Amino acid sequence: MPNSACVIGSGPNGLSAAIFLAQAGLRVEVFEAQSTAGGAVRTMELTLPGFRHDFGAAVFPLAAGSPFFSSLPLEKHGLEWIYPQAPVAHPLDDGTAIVLERKLDDAKRSLGQDGEVWADLLKPFVERWPEFSSELLGPLPWLPNHPFLMARFGWNGFRSARFIAHRFRSERTRALFAGIAGHSFLSLDECLSGAFGILLAVTAHAVGWPIARGGSQSLTNALCSHLGQLGGKVTTSTEINSLRQLPDCDRVLCDVTPRQLLQIAGAELTESYKRILRRFRYGPGAFKVDYALNAPIPWKSGDCARAATVHLGGSFEEIARSERLVRNGHHPDRPFVLLVQPSLCDQSRAPAGKHTAWAYCHVPNGSTDDMLGKLENQIERFAPGFHDCILARHVLAPADLQKRDSNLVGGDISGGIADLRQFVFRPSWRGYGTSAEHVYICSASTPPGGGVHGMCGYHAARSALSKLA
Ligand SMILES: Cc1cc2nc3c(=O)[nH]c(=O)nc-3n(C[C@H](O)[C@H](O)[C@H](O)COP(=O)(O)OP(=O)(O)OC[C@H]3O[C@@H](n4cnc5c(N)ncnc54)[C@H](O)[C@@H]3O)c2cc1C
Repeated sequence: MPNSACVIGSGPNGLSAAIFLAQAGLRVEVFEAQSTAGGAVRTMELTLPGFRHDFGAAVFPLAAGSPFFSSLPLEKHGLEWIYPQAPVAHPLDDGTAIVLERKLDDAKRSLGQDGEVWADLLKPFVERWPEFSSELLGPLPWLPNHPFLMARFGWNGFRSARFIAHRFRSERTRALFAGIAGHSFLSLDECLSGAFGILLAVTAHAVGWPIARGGSQSLTNALCSHLGQLGGKVTTSTEINSLRQLPDCDRVLCDVTPRQLLQIAGAELTESYKRILRRFRYGPGAFKVDYALNAPIPWKSGDCARAATVHLGGSFEEIARSERLVRNGHHPDRPFVLLVQPSLCDQSRAPAGKHTAWAYCHVPNGSTDDMLGKLENQIERFAPGFHDCILARHVLAPADLQKRDSNLVGGDISGGIADLRQFVFRPSWRGYGTSAEHVYICSASTPPGGGVHGMCGYHAARSALSKLA
């Protein structure tokens, strides 16, 4: 009889773990608390009929560039990436926008006096994306396979985003880099915030920042369909609160964060491991709004329509201030807003002639403050008349996010803050293993952390399989 495994949670990491184990011939069953699979990778009609909104992830550089996803026949299961003309646009108060071009050479030209520095910073990693991504999107290697490449990344990435941004002469390029590094949820003065900025900027050129035709659900559907073809099964509407609920199996992989792992597997974990899990720290949360619109967003700068992703926060200093305040538990008046306008390049998202938008800003973990007015002021600042386009809106405050996906603890969308300590020990020195021999953790709370890439699940499953022989 083949070995068997249970996976708790059907986010991209749970599904990746399940697929890897099914590929190896194990009997695999995935248990999902919600009525649909996918975790933060689902699409829903949150506002009006016919308007399809991504509940969580919307833009997929790490998925399209993921070494594991790239090895799967996901296109055959209906997944299609749509690449907007440019990865990201960043409007400024003078009515212009800085647009990051997809090709590094084009970006070098368009960034003018900073083009050379931008290209020097990113080129080695853009050119060697396959090697770079397979090293970076995994556990920290004791001995990297590409030591010079990784040393170069470490030398720059260990720094703060501010340190990196000071290499640029133009305020415009600094603002662009702040917006990209702002995805980290770290203060831009904190070490490692530079690494997020560099990694995401590298993906802009090496991969692009695509959206999924039909919404993020297409990625989940493709993963589930491939898993089904391999003989795996997903059972939805089944919350697992104790390992005793699971059928007999050789391995349990948990696509949950440390807080839930304590509840589910606490009875089988050692006291010292439980202490480590209790000390795990969650990061700031997200306050998210989805919009049904009667027209495209009326940007002051028409260049913003060249990208699906738009960063709203103005200058480097303004974004840095906003992120520092949030990291210190405060609510900024002018929050940094990440906005996606998927219907500009995917007509399936809204009825003919209508549009959707997705936006969130960072807030302290578990915040109950209503940020709607402040978030919309930031959109209106760069797109006057935005309010007149709104047909309907749907707000997801941190508690709402967590209700629809219990991994989003306090609205933390990254499975725990990725500061220096939790970058190295995520969630503990054991990595994917726990103190119970047959129980593994495979969520974004393990290396390489948040984002849709499935690499946490892949590496956890590899680790679980290696001990099964
Ligand atoms: C608003 C938002 C925007 C984002 N934007 C992006 C983006 O644009 N690009 C990007 O790459 N990433 C983005 N992310 C981050 C990305 O979605 C996550 O990092 C990723 O989904 C993590 O995958 P996961 O499998 O670890 O967890 P999740 O996707 O959170 O899945 C966990 C699953 O486990 C289930 N579960 C939890 N506990 C139990 C239990 N006890 N029993 C059964 N099931 C359980 C949950 O219901 C859920 O389905 C975003 C996330 C959010 C919320």
